[in-house]
Amino acid sequence: MMQRRTWLRAACGLCAAAPAWAHASSELGPAPLAEWSRPERFPKPELSSDEGGLWALMDREETKVRRSPFLMKDPELLAYLRSVANKLAGSHAPDLRVYPVRTPFFNASMAPNGMLQIWSGLLLRVDNEAQLAAVLGHEIGHYLQRHTLQRVRDLKDKAATSAFIGLFGLAGALGQLALAASIQSFSRDHEREADIIGLQLMHEAGYDLREAWKIWDYVGQEMAAAHGGGSSERSLFASHPPSVERSDKLRQLAAACGGGVIGQEAFEQRLAPHRFSLMEDELKRGQYGMSLVLLDKMLARDPRSADLYFFRAEARRLRAAEQDRELALQDLQQAIQLGSEPAQAHRSLGYLLQQQDSSKAGTAFATYLQRAPDAPDAALIKTYIQEGGN
Ligand SMILES: [Zn+2]
Repeated sequence: MMQRRTWLRAACGLCAAAPAWAHASSELGPAPLAEWSRPERFPKPELSSDEGGLWALMDREETKVRRSPFLMKDPELLAYLRSVANKLAGSHAPDLRVYPVRTPFFNASMAPNGMLQIWSGLLLRVDNEAQLAAVLGHEIGHYLQRHTLQRVRDLKDKAATSAFIGLFGLAGALGQLALAASIQSFSRDHEREADIIGLQLMHEAGYDLREAWKIWDYVGQEMAAAHGGGSSERSLFASHPPSVERSDKLRQLAAACGGGVIGQEAFEQRLAPHRFSLMEDELKRGQYGMSLVLLDKMLARDPRSADLYFFRAEARRLRAAEQDRELALQDLQQAIQLGSEPAQAHRSLGYLLQQQDSSKAGTAFATYLQRAPDAPDAALIKTYIQEGGN
């Protein structure tokens, strides 16, 4: 039996059903969506079935993720992410396992066996818990509708299965198909369905639906910066192509359903200990146009962060397009004026001044070494100081 849960509920009924953690003054509007039934929990499939084979593959993947050095082990962050995912998953929560992974791309993925990966590039880009819930709700939507299995079956039909099995054997053929499915995007219909279910899950968990379109809209802005810069950065959002149509649709649906939890402070608190190192990862991607869109957004929200001015200066210094040097110098001055700049801000200043004013560059490098005597690049920076003095 399917557990019937109608998507259309009276506003007053929803308010009464709002979970205890929801802000008392939040007023939830009506549910946005057509009728949908949350399926019952999925039993572990027979290993001999295609679904069982898919789960077994994902179990092996999960073992790798669990052992990965990139797994983020902060217990508070993990507990927080689990709690957000569990609120959204509802009755399916016992089947979910959450893995935050340190990798600087905007992505989350929910495997058919219940493995939910949340990549750190996503954590860096959402403004609050409701935006995170929008992305996770979408992923859990794919899971609840078993879209990956459908995708594998579609591919299997198309791919002349017998030829595949001949080549790889039964298990190998399934592996090849799952691999093909995982690197292809979901169909537009699946994407739309996951968007709508994601909104419904957000609504049931008491989140403000108006945050959902904002994150997709933002993702579109980063994409535009990437393409404007002539780069092929599609990979950042490969499995979930954003579109104007998508954020417009979500905006319309959410308009009638305002209110609910946004959760900015809680989110920022959990992420704060990681933000600096995640920004370092972000710059290592070498996609400075996108990083600058991100940093502009973060600075608009947090205009007194010396760290963020430093990183924006770094993005510009490393990109070195027209006017980048001057703008980077301005940002470094701003960081230093705020008085809480990281030691690396002085190193950046040194690099920027190196060609023009070796004495000032030397002073900046010396300040860096004074502040960070054990820095891994200390020996290199010392040579710069010596060269500058000659
Ligand atoms: Zn999707």
